[in-house]
Order: sequence, then structure tokens, then C-alpha cells
Amino acid sequence: MNDRFTRQSFLGRDSTEQMANTTIALVGFGGGGSVILPQLLHMGFRKVKVFDADEVEDSNTHRLAGIIYPDDVVNATPKVDVAKRVAKNIVGECCIETFKMSWQEGAEYIKECQILIGCVDSYSERDQLERFCRRHMIAYIDIGMGVKVVEGEVPQVYGQVILSMPGQLCMHCMGFLTQIKLNEERSQYGDAGPKAQVMWSNSGLGSFAVGLAVDLVTDWSRSLRGPVYKVFNFNTGDVVTHPRLQFMVSGECRHYSQADLGVPVFVPL
Ligand SMILES: [Zn+2]
Repeated sequence: MNDRFTRQSFLGRDSTEQMANTTIALVGFGGGGSVILPQLLHMGFRKVKVFDADEVEDSNTHRLAGIIYPDDVVNATPKVDVAKRVAKNIVGECCIETFKMSWQEGAEYIKECQILIGCVDSYSERDQLERFCRRHMIAYIDIGMGVKVVEGEVPQVYGQVILSMPGQLCMHCMGFLTQIKLNEERSQYGDAGPKAQVMWSNSGLGSFAVGLAVDLVTDWSRSLRGPVYKVFNFNTGDVVTHPRLQFMVSGECRHYSQADLGVPVFVPL
């Protein structure tokens, strides 16, 4: 048996080719991105563009999946070099492209992607990513986790995975992005400190995101027809569709217009 994908042939006769020919941008190679990249490659995606401007630090080795050598911290290895190493180990001399820069700096390289998976921290960056994806007709998959710690209570570990498709409900429609959240974040800029991150919940969210990407490309489930907003409760193990999406009757987004497609004439700095 020489077909490495035989055991996932239920995904469809052309699924291997479909995944190999799909270009995915992976924005952020930290706790989320580093568990997503190997899964994409194992599944058969061969055109992945990884964006991260940062270097490996001691504080992120507990969640950065991949081969971390002790020297990576000392040498401040770029995270995208870890991505290259992971890719090489899975598929040999590989096809992934890495960009040690912010996605905004590398926006030119994202335009031709069909799917973008965002593993970023802030609401404002998610807002910008979604805006960019809408303009360029890219399916946007967002993951994020958080921990709510209240003294005297059990910490609450939670997360979300969202699929925002051009022409369908956006993250503002779904209530995930609101002007209040964006304003609050802006007013606290620089004060927030490091957010809690752990490997197991990032892995759960990342796996679900990869599943969405596979379904988008292969349509194996025949059921992915609209936006997705899943809420993960890692204390209980529950995964539910956010009530706001569950009960929305209108499928129309009033935030993005079909007329806004393409490259804007004026790009604000
Ligand atoms: Zn909307």
C-alpha cells in the first residue's frame, strides 16, 4: 500500500488533490498555530503560508508544539523557523512558505489564499483579519482561548472557533466582535499583561479549526453550509453553537458589502 492517505479516503476521491491545491495562510505560530500546522500537513495540505514576526522565548516553550531545542531560546530562533523544521520532518523538503513578519506586512502574499486561519490575541487584529478576508473573498477561521480567574472560584477555561465566510454572517453579526469590546481593548492597550494559554485547550480548538478547513475543501460532511461559532467549555468538555448564532433568523450581514471586494484605492496607515 503506497498511498499515505488511504485511511482518509472517505473524505472523497479527489480530497488529496483538493487539499494539496488549496493555499492556506496561518497567521500566528504560537500555541494555536503550532498545533494546527502539523495537522494541516498530515492531512495533505501542501501550500501553507505561515506568518509570525516573533522569536522563541522561554515563556512560550510550554505550548509551542514542534521541536524546540534548548538553543532556540538562547538563540531567539524565529518561530517561523520552528514551523519550517516541523514541516520538514513531516513531509521532507517542503512546500510551506514562512514569513517572519506581521500578516499586515505580508498582506500581499495572503491575497491568493483560499483559507486563512487566524491565531491572534486581540479583538482588533481579528477585526482587521476578517475585514481583509472579506475584501479578498477568503474564508476566515478564527480560534482563541481564555481563562477566567476569579479569586475563590475554579478557573474557567474556554475558547471559540469561528468560521466567517464572505457573503455570510460576520463576527460582528455573531456578536463576537462588538464596538464595546474593541473600545475596551483599545483603552487597556499595554496593560493587559500575558494572557493565560495552555497546550491542551489550544490543541482542541486547533483540531476543530483544521476539521473546518478540511470540510471547506472536500465538503465530505455535506453539512457545512453557513457560519460557525462554536463555544468550548474546557471545564465541562461541552462544545455548543453560540446561542446568538443558533437563533439568528436572518443570514444577511449588514457590515460588509459585496461592493467592497478587491483592493481598496486608499489604504489607511
Ligand atoms: Zn456582519
